Amino acid sequence: MSREDYEIVIGLEVHAELSTKTKIFCSCPTKFGAEPNTQTCPICMAMPGTLPVLNEKVVEYAVKAGLATNCEIARDSKNDRKNYFYPDLPKAYQISQFDKPLCEHGYIEIDTEEGKRKIGLTRIHIEEDAGKLNHDEFGGGSLVDLNRAGVPLIEIVSEPDIRNGEETEKYLRKLKSILEYIEVSDCKMQEGSLRADVNVSVRKKGDVKLGTRTEMKNMNSFRSITRAIEYEVDRQIDILEEGGKIEQETLRWDEVSGKTFSMRDKEDAQDYRYFPDPDLVAIKLSEEYIQNIKETLPELPESRKKRYLEEYKLSQKDANLITSSKYLSDLFEDAIKVCGNPKAVNNWIISDISRILKEAEMDPIEIPFDANQLAKLVILIDKGIISSSIGKKVLVELFENPRDPETIIKENGWIQISDEGAIKEVVLKILKANPQSIADYKAGKDRALGFLVGQAMKETKGKANPQMLNKMFLEELNK
Ligand code: ADP
Ligand code: MG
Ligand code: ZN
Repeated sequence: MSREDYEIVIGLEVHAELSTKTKIFCSCPTKFGAEPNTQTCPICMAMPGTLPVLNEKVVEYAVKAGLATNCEIARDSKNDRKNYFYPDLPKAYQISQFDKPLCEHGYIEIDTEEGKRKIGLTRIHIEEDAGKLNHDEFGGGSLVDLNRAGVPLIEIVSEPDIRNGEETEKYLRKLKSILEYIEVSDCKMQEGSLRADVNVSVRKKGDVKLGTRTEMKNMNSFRSITRAIEYEVDRQIDILEEGGKIEQETLRWDEVSGKTFSMRDKEDAQDYRYFPDPDLVAIKLSEEYIQNIKETLPELPESRKKRYLEEYKLSQKDANLITSSKYLSDLFEDAIKVCGNPKAVNNWIISDISRILKEAEMDPIEIPFDANQLAKLVILIDKGIISSSIGKKVLVELFENPRDPETIIKENGWIQISDEGAIKEVVLKILKANPQSIADYKAGKDRALGFLVGQAMKETKGKANPQMLNKMFLEELNK
């Protein structure tokens, strides 16, 4: 048999840290990057005799996420203890949800070449994050930092509906953008605010039964996820082709070697001896409570995209790119409100801004300038005060040291030369220095004009008004 005879099956468990101010069962802050163990208290350090109290915001955020992903919201839910030992989990159990998650039976739509496809969501539940072990920081040994212990998470579990690496990336990007839009998580993957366990199996095409899966834990970059899936699919097919059997196990992806390694046998639910947490009360949600949250939901990416296609006539591709991030999408809309030129704002975002973000490996949320500054840049070009090539330089400045674009061009002396006398002086100088181009132009080579304009631009460091240059060169050449 060949590779083409196999079908890939993928299901994702995504953990998103919620951006509540305080932890899930105590009032310690959740801010990322603090000195180790400075955001802890007896509750999140697991001192015996302490009692957890559920942070209401956590429920609200999880319900919000459920509503935004087409889930049914449970009226009756609860917290359970998931028992296991790990040094970063001093209670020796994690408070999570077992058989009554807050949200179930949802879906997320992704765009594929064959059209829209729904990826089912099995459930979304709330749970607490564990602490973090820092290995070998002071020579030997590991130190535990409990700042993260008790940071609220939602776990979003998908159905095994995903069929390849590309769809996995689309699903994850879509999920990330939804969580960003509804502002329940900052989704910073580098900081571990969003991480995915990737479950992969293969089966012969036409088989109904799923193959045995392996699970790659805590992946937090799109590139690693795509690479890891590719590697794991090949590994599994090789084993099956040789007549072997896939072991259900938990794997670790190693970025450097580009391989997966076994961490442990996969545990089953019964290994955790889940039971309802006796310290916490049941979570009962009223119709009214859910309705109120529904009313706070903002416009979601799909709807914004539709609007951009109709209202601003953006291409599918551009609309996809801009709405993929709430931040970009807000930047787009807010800048248009100020400058009234959607086409120009779209162009800046999809070309120069996107390129700079990519080169600097920045997330849109890290863009240092605001919509007003971008709009001012557009206005300066529209008014002919600067050329678009100077505009590109202004944009670089906006990334490096954001301030009013008008100040930037004044400081750098970048104001466009639109004075007829000054332009004429340059035109005559360039013509004098390039007699061959004049001859070429007269011999019918139109390209010579472009060359001359280019030379004049160079001479003025991009500051000459290009329309005026063009006009004046033509006048002189046709004399
Ligand atoms: P856990 O990993 O915690 O035991 P589940 O059994 O609910 O949880 O499965 C977790 C994830 O694995 C889900 O996203 C599910 O879609 C996916 N999954 C389950 N079986 C398979 C399979 N055979 N191949 C690929 N993914 C699978
Ligand atoms: Mg799992
Ligand atoms: Zn605490």
